[in-house]
Amino acid sequence: MERERSITEVPGIGKKAAADLLALGVTTLRSMLFLRPRAYDDRREERRLADASISDPTISCRITVLRHEEFRTQRGMTLKVRAEDDDGTRLEILCFNRNFLKDQLKLGSSWYIYGKVSKIRGIYQIASFEIKRTKEEAGIGKILPVYPLSGSLTEKMLRRASSYALDALSPMPDELPASLYDRLGLMHHSQAYRALHYPETMEEAEEALRTLSFTELFLLELSMLRNRKMRAKRIGSQPSRREKALLQSLPFQLTDDQMKAAEEIREDMDSGIPMQRLLQGDVGSGKTLVAWLTALHAIDSGKQVAFMAPTELLARQHADGAAALLAPLGVRIAFITGSVKGESRRLLLKSLKEGSTDLAIGTHALFSEDVSFHDLGYVIIDEQHRFGVMQREALRKKGSNASILSMTATPIPRSLALTLFADSAVSTLHSMPNGRIPVRTYLVSESRRAEMYNAVGVEFQRGHQAYFVYPRIDDEGEGDLRDVTTMHDFLRKEYPGIQSCLIHSRLPDDEKMQILRSFREKKLQYLVATSVVEVGIDVPEATCMVIEHAERFGLAALHQLRGRVGRSTLPSYCFLVYGSNLTDDAKQRLNIMRETTDGFCIAEKDLEIRGPGEITGEKQSGFLHLRFASLTGSIEMVEMAREEAEKVVQEDRGLLKAENAPLRQALAKSGERGI
Ligand code: ADP
Ligand code: MG
Repeated sequence: MERERSITEVPGIGKKAAADLLALGVTTLRSMLFLRPRAYDDRREERRLADASISDPTISCRITVLRHEEFRTQRGMTLKVRAEDDDGTRLEILCFNRNFLKDQLKLGSSWYIYGKVSKIRGIYQIASFEIKRTKEEAGIGKILPVYPLSGSLTEKMLRRASSYALDALSPMPDELPASLYDRLGLMHHSQAYRALHYPETMEEAEEALRTLSFTELFLLELSMLRNRKMRAKRIGSQPSRREKALLQSLPFQLTDDQMKAAEEIREDMDSGIPMQRLLQGDVGSGKTLVAWLTALHAIDSGKQVAFMAPTELLARQHADGAAALLAPLGVRIAFITGSVKGESRRLLLKSLKEGSTDLAIGTHALFSEDVSFHDLGYVIIDEQHRFGVMQREALRKKGSNASILSMTATPIPRSLALTLFADSAVSTLHSMPNGRIPVRTYLVSESRRAEMYNAVGVEFQRGHQAYFVYPRIDDEGEGDLRDVTTMHDFLRKEYPGIQSCLIHSRLPDDEKMQILRSFREKKLQYLVATSVVEVGIDVPEATCMVIEHAERFGLAALHQLRGRVGRSTLPSYCFLVYGSNLTDDAKQRLNIMRETTDGFCIAEKDLEIRGPGEITGEKQSGFLHLRFASLTGSIEMVEMAREEAEKVVQEDRGLLKAENAPLRQALAKSGERGI
């Protein structure tokens, strides 16, 4: 395959900009085209000052310079240019940090200006604006894309990059069979990308998005349907020697769901076709064990396994877990994160490359450039919704033929799982391990704070443990928010003689890990924490979770935090302390938390409150790699894509017909669509 052209080819995009673009998922010219504008700047109409209103203060028109003045600001003298538009309406142009404009904006000269005005004491002022010699340069008469930004990037740079990429990559071959375009009224590929970034009309932008969404869903459905058909012959796999040994060493029985999930994964792995599977299960349902079992299956068949966690802390916890469960079975384990450096890193990398390590556990650093595997057969991604596009992309490149298991506690709603996956590539842990008691959740107002401290104190007397979570590390002058530092002092007085520790993101990872180990070994009875304890932390004897300013946390975060307790057969409690002046949404969230502990239910309620609009794109649908399509917003389109894909698979599963050649190429190029 030809090499992808890098984004740094664009004039003006250097190292720094490239690094910031990476955060947006853009590395190549092609990926620049995938960057969907978050909005459009419609500059088609001339808008003079008289047209500006509070609801739309935008102007885009010609102005003539009348006078130069200066006014004093904190940073010294600033240029103020007085001007008028073609109606003769006056405008003051405030040139903050742009005094150099004085030489350009000569008295009597005419310019095209674009920006938003405000009216101060009857006079229009503008401070943030683009000003250009010609209409063309100012983009007046056009619709311009507005991109998401990060770091040092500006809209100007991104617009330059997208126009460059469009020119450089045109014409692009179509990705769908020719007959579909007419029948479904889709835009051809090249035209669709041009119209997505630089539409002539807003309708055209919508059409482009419709085409790209459909294409994306169609290819996704197609690759899933093909996989499913090929996997239809199940072979009935057996647990390997060490899988059986692990099962025997456990002090408990696997749940039926855990057994079933392990079996599904095992069969996928033995089928010879790289697996792409999602393992979803609520917090505490025991996903890690399924991961270890199936890792053993891969290792026993001579493959290497990589286990990736979203944070260093979680990776270390898993490494401890693997050391306890798998090392006794002779599994050779390595721990690799960004903080493993120097000689020890060199040795680890060497053993991975030579194949003398079976299982590598770490953060996304597992897939940095200097890491290579001898024979990577299986990749497990814990809390996969926490990873960004780039990290998953790096992973895909490293282990292009490896099976991938994505684990998540953030389920996709049932209805969507059905439509999209036909349940074929999703394993679900519906039930909790035996003997678990649902966490009891209490909403605590200020007036009942003392009662809550008493209740937690009783748990301490029983030898149980607790987390106290606050939204802040220290008092940053916003006196109304409780922070961990202040509250730790307070709690020490409240519970004299009880061992405790502060834990937050600013501590070095080693120290965080040390604290967590002491907590697990019960040398500490409570942790005073920020949301660093949100994801994945597993300390079974913790029975109390106190979350202050609970109204500030989203439903998903609250559910994850609460999931830190209730991980054994002990009764557990979650206290959500709330402040005054709750918004309606916040009240609703807290009530949902009180009423249910079911993660699926919470995810669906979350959708209802936030609306399906927010589920689009990379962020929410996470593992689906969707760039354009919205899952909940366009169920009809999802279904249409599925129908069309089914037709193709029925007629030409191997995609051998000439008209299906574009599909073959598109699938090969995207490598993997779906989970
Ligand atoms: P999650 O699905 O949130 O990642 P974990 O894998 O961390 O959950 O498991 C939570 C806890 O439940 C762990 O302490 C684990 O040892 C325990 N566990 C897992 N499976 C079982 C089981 N079948 N019976 C009892 N305890 C289990
Ligand atoms: Mg977990």
